[in-house]
Amino acid sequence: MVKTVEAPPEMHGLIDSIEQKYEELLKTELIFKPEESRISLLGSEAMFIGLKAIAIDLKDELDQVLGEAGRNLLIYRLGQSFGRSEAERILPKLGLTELPARIAAGPIWAAYSGFVRVRLLPGSVLEPNENFFLFYEHPNNFEAVQWKKEGRSATEPVCFFNAGYSSGWCSVASGVELEAEEILCEAKGDNACRFIMFPRNRRMEYMERIDEFINK
Ligand SMILES: [Zn+2]
Repeated sequence: MVKTVEAPPEMHGLIDSIEQKYEELLKTELIFKPEESRISLLGSEAMFIGLKAIAIDLKDELDQVLGEAGRNLLIYRLGQSFGRSEAERILPKLGLTELPARIAAGPIWAAYSGFVRVRLLPGSVLEPNENFFLFYEHPNNFEAVQWKKEGRSATEPVCFFNAGYSSGWCSVASGVELEAEEILCEAKGDNACRFIMFPRNRRMEYMERIDEFINK
């Protein structure tokens, strides 16, 4: 019974097996060591950071220093760096070789680590080459939720950390340099936060097709 990711039925067996791997790992490899001020998580050190710190407080600080465009780019790159780093840290623990499994391990880890629930939409192309394409949503993700909770509105998507993190994970998993673009956002009143992910050098081509993915 799949718990963490909404995905087409043909992926359920794969997702279920990866969930079990994570649950086994977390039983033995999440160790609190307060006397050393450390938490050991799957063999390396981790710390808790409040979601509002990224979704609101950090963004406000960056807004003052860099303006909105600079803030959005930096949050995206920060998310991308986190996603890469997590994939490099965690994928070797799972022993997965096939690309669909290495990609799926990202959304599943995102659920176990308190980050986001992912909805994988039909139409993705999971190939480790220029054809790579991921079509997905992050419903109720913390950036949109916290933004609305603060009573803020938006005219453009705001979930740059989510976009960056997912593209960072998938770049490591696939070996292809990927970028993600949020095309619908709950913070601006859409029904979901929806993203497309594509090879970096095909950005122009996908930007021209945005309406097609918005209306699907
Ligand atoms: Zn959003």
